[in-house]
Amino acid sequence: MAPKKITCLDCGQVNRVPEDKLTAAPKCGTCGAKLMSNKAVEIDFDTLQKAARNDDLPLVVDFWAPWCGPCRMMAPEFSKAAGELNGQARLVKLNTEDHPKAGAVYNIRGIPTMAAFANGREKARQSGAIPAPAIVDWVKAAV
Ligand SMILES: [Zn+2]
Repeated sequence: MAPKKITCLDCGQVNRVPEDKLTAAPKCGTCGAKLMSNKAVEIDFDTLQKAARNDDLPLVVDFWAPWCGPCRMMAPEFSKAAGELNGQARLVKLNTEDHPKAGAVYNIRGIPTMAAFANGREKARQSGAIPAPAIVDWVKAAV
């Protein structure tokens, strides 16, 4: 099986991970950070751009902000979905208040908005808070 390109969410290094190692807690060859998590990981704009462009493993981004009630409601659901999809997709969060450029570049009109990236392209987008099972279904259908 061909290795999958996965961007380290800590240092931005693109790692190559054999497909059968995806669920074996792979670590970044540069900084040693875990490449996979069963929780949603917070990332910044540069990391998002890099991972969305390079990763072979689908990347699902939750664009959110601390002042947004529905976003805070969805946070535990999104994290639960991250655990269920571990090894199939990486679920990450981007705080649009800390990284306003991301909202502009990805044309985010309302939050929460989820965007699913695969093979360097955005495949689907979903606005509004939804529960974990619906997130999992949406991701599987999107990528
Ligand atoms: Zn790293």
